[in-house]
Amino acid sequence: MSYSIENIVEIIGAQRIGNVSATIDWLLTDSRSLSFPEETLFFALTTKRNDGARYIPDLYARGVRNFVVSKESMKRFDVQPFSGSQFSTANFLVVSNPLKALQKLAEQHREQFQVPVIGITGSNGKTIVKEWLHQLLSAERVIVRSPRSYNSQIGVPLSVWQMNEQSGLAIFEAGISEPGEMRALQNIIKPTIGILTNIGGAHQENFFSLQEKCMEKLALFKNCDVVIYNGDDEFISNCVAKSMLSAREIAWSRKDMERPLYIGKVEKKDDCTVISYRYLDMDNTFTLPFIDDASVENSLNCLAACLYLMLPAEKITERMGRLEPVAMRLEVKEGKNGCVLINDSYNSDLGSLDIALNFLYRRSLSNGLKRTLILSDILETGQNTSTLYRQVAQLVNSRKIERIIGVGSEISTCAARFNIENAFYPNTDALMNAVVKGKLRLENEIILIKGARKFGFDALTEVLEKKVHETILEVNLGAMIANLNYYRGKLKPETKIVCMVKASAYGAGSYEIAKTLQEHRVDYLAVAVADEGSELRKAGITASIIIMNPEMTAFKTMFDYKLEPEVYSFGLLEALIKEAEKEGITNFPVHVKLDTGMHRLGFAPEDMPRLIERLKGQNAVIPRSVFSHFVGSDSPQFDAFTRRQIVMFEKASVELQEAFAHKILRHICNSAGIERFPGAQFDMVRLGLGLYGISPIDNSILNNVSTLKTTILQIRDVPAEDTVGYSRKGHLNRPSRIAAIPIGYADGLNRHLGNGHAYCLVNGCKASYVGNICMDVCMIDVTDIDCKEGDTVEIFGDHLPITVLSDVLDTIPYEVLTSVSTRVKRIYYQD
Ligand SMILES: *Cc1c(COP(=O)(O)O)cnc(C)c1O
Repeated sequence: MSYSIENIVEIIGAQRIGNVSATIDWLLTDSRSLSFPEETLFFALTTKRNDGARYIPDLYARGVRNFVVSKESMKRFDVQPFSGSQFSTANFLVVSNPLKALQKLAEQHREQFQVPVIGITGSNGKTIVKEWLHQLLSAERVIVRSPRSYNSQIGVPLSVWQMNEQSGLAIFEAGISEPGEMRALQNIIKPTIGILTNIGGAHQENFFSLQEKCMEKLALFKNCDVVIYNGDDEFISNCVAKSMLSAREIAWSRKDMERPLYIGKVEKKDDCTVISYRYLDMDNTFTLPFIDDASVENSLNCLAACLYLMLPAEKITERMGRLEPVAMRLEVKEGKNGCVLINDSYNSDLGSLDIALNFLYRRSLSNGLKRTLILSDILETGQNTSTLYRQVAQLVNSRKIERIIGVGSEISTCAARFNIENAFYPNTDALMNAVVKGKLRLENEIILIKGARKFGFDALTEVLEKKVHETILEVNLGAMIANLNYYRGKLKPETKIVCMVKASAYGAGSYEIAKTLQEHRVDYLAVAVADEGSELRKAGITASIIIMNPEMTAFKTMFDYKLEPEVYSFGLLEALIKEAEKEGITNFPVHVKLDTGMHRLGFAPEDMPRLIERLKGQNAVIPRSVFSHFVGSDSPQFDAFTRRQIVMFEKASVELQEAFAHKILRHICNSAGIERFPGAQFDMVRLGLGLYGISPIDNSILNNVSTLKTTILQIRDVPAEDTVGYSRKGHLNRPSRIAAIPIGYADGLNRHLGNGHAYCLVNGCKASYVGNICMDVCMIDVTDIDCKEGDTVEIFGDHLPITVLSDVLDTIPYEVLTSVSTRVKRIYYQD
């Protein structure tokens, strides 16, 4: 749906500068996601850390002409649109708060529709319930829903904006992290049907109590006609009672027959769950093709919504039986013939295609691979084929896709719209056949695989995928960004950040981590040695890089790749100056390290006068920053010492700064310092462990980033009197089922974990290590666990905190993380 710019000016109450006529179809908040410049309205949002107005000149150059911006931002970036200026053909809509304006516009947009709107909130399961409702209800009506998990103060307005004349039902998620946020979301979504999935501890840090959080979530349901929740959860039931909603309630219950939706039986079979229920005095049954508790809970919430929307019981039964798992992430996998595969089986609509293409485009910039899209028919959009594929073709062009492979009859009829290298197939089998027979060759390409479920692209991915070593380290880039933002939230807006990616990014793999951090505009990256830095440069990382342990033999590498060394002694400084002078280099940035108590590396504060004199007497290098390192900032026990370090640092660093006219950045905080000594931020902080999801203070897990996984190779029954493994160490006290898994000490699984000292998880159950851990394999006890060969085993990660292992080993999580051997394949994904 389009809006004239005049209409928008009125809705958001903006002062308009510029009088270019314009029609707006697209709202944009992330400049990297631009697709349709002419019809886009860009909101220059300001956050603690950033100001979207920074990107206006670039967006203007790419054709965007309409901007919502605050007065302060216009001043800050000097984007003044008077006639004759560089922005003379633009409209600037000046408001006091661009985020509020975005929300206001979405609110107004929402007002125009009378269709049912489902609002989903809760701690877990929001996205799955949303997607399942879509699977259950989309046969009868056109559904608009949040792309992926767009559930924030920004994501919700962008989701609601997608509603149009065809929409027969809308499903939106709402997520909050702070008190007060839900009111804004309620205003935008205005749900008529509310679903509260459940309440857990996530995002608890800003809430006083669980009850406060629950009540806040319930604010979403203020004007709902009906509210759906788990009536057996007493805590939730109490909160609902307290919140005095006027809505009808469909609380489902497995215990209380008086509840509106009574769940009589939940019977778990091998691979499905049979559920019977009574609603309005009618008894019915359905079979859910999942057996875990979370899926059962999610299905019951969906059931209640379907019943309320009067979907007939036979249809519910039939469609519940066909529910598909929801893949919530873009998976990046290594393909055959030098290809990189991006697998997005999440869903298939224009919004998620846009996001996935954007992801592909950004990944492609550094690896030089050809950009290819494999796309099936996009189903159930309510749009006519030719409009739909015209838009797809526009997206494909704007993301500079070089080759398209279409699957399905509809996309095939629009082949002529794609004037790039192309091929079309009637169905997935035909495409797979062409690949297997060598008629279609995919080589050195980065390929986005995106298909509606019906097309079964999983099988296609399997064909294209390179089979990997069964042991992998999964790295969740989204979680890492959440951690970055968590720490950013603790900083003053102007404080800069160095992200530590040394030791292969604490084991997570430096390139992908560095690339993601660079995209999120961190100020510096830091590695230990020059070779780590040059590898990053060769892979296309352009951010500033600090070398913490510069080797004297590697100065040339540092100059060549612009890697900025730390200097910690006169010996090192002299050698560096000499080498730089020899190469004719001037003003090469260096980072001066002071020893304030660690007694490892660094100039003593008393060295300052001599250091200043030496630095001033040459122009080969120039101090860019000065820093020191805390000894025990994680522990109150050392607080007096830490404060002395701060005082010492303050004094010595001021002395250095005063000797120079240019700004020298000062920094001392590591992750623990950021949390515990916010007053010591100076100009910059150095974030390490916290970025990887482990709290530096109590080792609790923030957002878990790395998960080490493997698979069961073989299972055997072993009599009680036998032993398992080398040296007959693995004694059994009963007849046991023993599974062998392909991970050993050469992969980084410490031998001290063997002989029952620790465990891993098999299908969610603890399986202890039996006998000695071998070099490449080890054995675990699965006697009481329902499992089979090929099942996944978690060594540490999302469900088994790494600290369980580091505690057993009497070490710190840093050591366990960095011990995962390089032969273990890293797989990256983004939520
Ligand atoms: C590793 C390192 C950090 C980061 O420390 P964390 O405890 O992981 O946050 C900061 N500064 C220096 C000098 C380091 O070597």
